[in-house]
Order: sequence, then C-alpha cells, then structure tokens
Amino acid sequence: MLDLAIVGATVVAPSGVALADVGVVAGKIANIAPPGALEPARHTVDAHGMLLIPGAVDPHTHLDAEMFSSHTIDDFESGTAAAAAGGVTTIVDYAFQAQGGSLADAIEKWSAKARGRAIIDYGFHVALLDPSPEAIAEIPRVVGRGVTSIKIFMMQGFEARARDYLRAFKIAGDSGALLAIHAEDEHLIGFCTERLLAAGKHDVTHFAASRPPLSEAAAVRRALAMTELSAAPSYFVHLSSREAVDEVRCARARGRMVLAETRPIYLYLTEERFLEPNGAKYVGYPPLRSAEHRDALWEALADGTIDVVATDHCSWTLERKISADRFTRMPPGMSNLETLVPMLYSEGVAKGRLSISRWVELTSTNAAKIFGMYPRKGAIVEGADADLVIFDPSRKIVVNSREMHSRADYDVFEGFEVTGWPKMTIARGVPIVTDRRVDSAAGRGEFVARARFSPRWRSQ
Ligand SMILES: [Zn+2]
Repeated sequence: MLDLAIVGATVVAPSGVALADVGVVAGKIANIAPPGALEPARHTVDAHGMLLIPGAVDPHTHLDAEMFSSHTIDDFESGTAAAAAGGVTTIVDYAFQAQGGSLADAIEKWSAKARGRAIIDYGFHVALLDPSPEAIAEIPRVVGRGVTSIKIFMMQGFEARARDYLRAFKIAGDSGALLAIHAEDEHLIGFCTERLLAAGKHDVTHFAASRPPLSEAAAVRRALAMTELSAAPSYFVHLSSREAVDEVRCARARGRMVLAETRPIYLYLTEERFLEPNGAKYVGYPPLRSAEHRDALWEALADGTIDVVATDHCSWTLERKISADRFTRMPPGMSNLETLVPMLYSEGVAKGRLSISRWVELTSTNAAKIFGMYPRKGAIVEGADADLVIFDPSRKIVVNSREMHSRADYDVFEGFEVTGWPKMTIARGVPIVTDRRVDSAAGRGEFVARARFSPRWRSQ
C-alpha cells in the first residue's frame, strides 16, 4: 500500500517528460508507473493537466542574517514558508564566520537559527570572512560534516588577504569542497564609488555606475587565476553581466571546472528601475544592468553556460531598504524565494526561451548535483526524497506582495503577470502547501549533510 499517489500529471524526470503516476512510501518516491498502473494508496491526488516536477533547490539564501547593522526580516520559518509556497523544497543558506571566529561556531549558530523553524530541508555553506590559519585548518572538518562549499566574498578586505585566501582555496580544493565566489573587484568598485561620491552623486540613480560590469568580469578573471593555481573548483554566484559570462565560457572552453549561477532580478529587471521613486528597493550586489546584459544572461541560460538560477533571498522592509541617503549604505538584497520557480516558467518556458527540462535543471537538478544532494534531491527518480511540486502551467497570478509569505512588505516583481504557479508542494511525502496556503509545523525541515563536490557532477 502506497502512502500517497499522484496520478495523471505530466512528469518531468531525467528520462524525459511524459504522463506517469508517482507513488510515495515513507517520504520517498517508491514507484514511477505508466498511467493507471500504480498499486492502491491511502491518499490519491488527481493531477490531470498539471506538471509534476522535483521540488526546487535554492542554493543561495540569507535567512535570519545580519548585515549593514540590521537583521533580515525573514527568519528560517517565514523564509522557508515563502520558499515552499513557491515550490522550493530545499535551500542552502550561508553561515557567516565572525571575525576571529571559527567555522564550526558559524555552523552551530546557523543550525540554531534553522532548528525548530525551517519547514523544508536545508544545508549550509560556510562564508569564510577571516581566513586565519586556524579557520583554514578547519576546512576539512567542516567538509566532513556535510558543509561542502565555502563562500568567498571578493569585496571589502579580500585583496589585503588574497594570499591567505589562496591557501584556503588550496585546502578547500584538496578537501573536495566547492568555492562559491562573489566576484566583484573591490578596487574597481572603490575607485568608481569614490569619484561618484566626490561629485556629490550619492543617490541610488548612481548605484549601477559604482559597480560596473567590468568590476565583475575582472574579479571573475582574477578568481579563475587563483583557483587554477590552487586547483580548486569554482562556482560563481549571481553573475549579472555579459562580460562575466564570457569569462566563464572561455574558461570552460579551456577545460576548467567552473560553474555559474544567476539570479532572477537580472533576468526580469534592468537598471532603469533605479530611476523610480523608491528605486533603492532594487539594490543588490551586483546592481541591475542594461537590457544588453539581461539578454546575454538569457542566452547563457539556454546554451548551458549558466547552470543554476538561485534567489540570493535577503529580505528587508521597504522602510529599511529606502532609509539610507547614499547608495553605499543601502542594504543589498530582496525577497524573491516565492517567485523563483513560477517566474522562470512564465518568462522562460511559456515564452519559448527554455524547455521544460531546462527549467527544472536550472531550478532543481543542477543545484542538487553541484552541491552534493543528488539523487536524494533534485529529480523524480525512485528512491529519492518525495519532494515534489504539482505545478499548474495555466494558472495566472499577478504578483502582489500582500499575498506572499515573506515578511517583506514589498515585492520587486509587484504587478508582474505570471503564467504558471505551484498547485501543491510536497516535502518528503507530506503536502505542505496547497493552493498557496502553507500548512506545516515549523521545524519539520531537516539538515542535509551534503556530499563532496564531484567534478563529474553532470553525468551523475
Ligand atoms: Zn548572497
């Protein structure tokens, strides 16, 4: 007897896209059968006319985090509720090392934030902010605990400690960790920022000019040299520009192991947004770019240069977001976990720019493989966790921040018309969202200890 049967859906599986029925036992996918061929189940969900996809895996979130002397508005409970409502069933959040602190303490601190709160499964990356000899020596132990990726910010303070970071890259690579790199060159940004501020150009309309595409591409190039020397695999988070994507393409052509992520805001918004009243609500690092860059990112999604679309969900109230009078003091990031999957369907699949399979790779399968969670997460295959989304491809929704589950009181995609939205989100066999209503006990999400990075991740 199955616990749950989902019948009638078009199933998006690694083997292809086809009508099938899916059976669940004890939180796992037990059976993928031709229509009508499943054994009886305690509960049956009729999913005719729907797509059945693996729950999305967002490997870039910041929940319950502190930056710019403020606390993000979403904790692990509201943030994962927003995630689940949008069809995301696993996140990997960034645990920040304190200056002078250990990596183990960072992971402990983040575990305490998530435990008892998260409603979906979660893993952690550790952000290496102080590459002391002690912290570097901890890397193999951290990797052994299932925290198998190390975040590097190439911004404030990176250059002064570049050689320490190189030592860390070497140990990370030797330990089987993946480097998740935020690539923006601090000196190029510093130079641009200095000149703008000296000319009295303080407001958000000058923000994009303070961090030009060149500063991203230069940092990618430098990181590629550093990771080549230290033989460490690299994953560039939230790439935003044509130049940066071209660097990744060239490195791959030379046989380098390099992976790339982008973020929804760069696919749907351009820098003209900063001219709007309250334009500060769009501030993220790197900034929004011109349409030329947006189009280059879409090409890179379709041709395989970009592997993952992840949110960098980092939510604030509108009040906090617009309260600073100069662009250097505006807290970066925004809420966007709930719209990740449906908007990429709407703008990508429904508009003919991406296939259904590519959409699922970009939002689920690739992140699960790259970050060591496949095949437990990221695919509809027998034996995997039954993290499933029944997705209604014809449901039309207008984005309205009041209907979203994030505690942020605005949405950067307010008013966007979206075609396709999750009908039901199932996490380890349990429906936790139905028709946009979240119904789950806080704390049912579990820590996922991740495997080491495999250079052969694509063929897993
Ligand atoms: Zn981030």
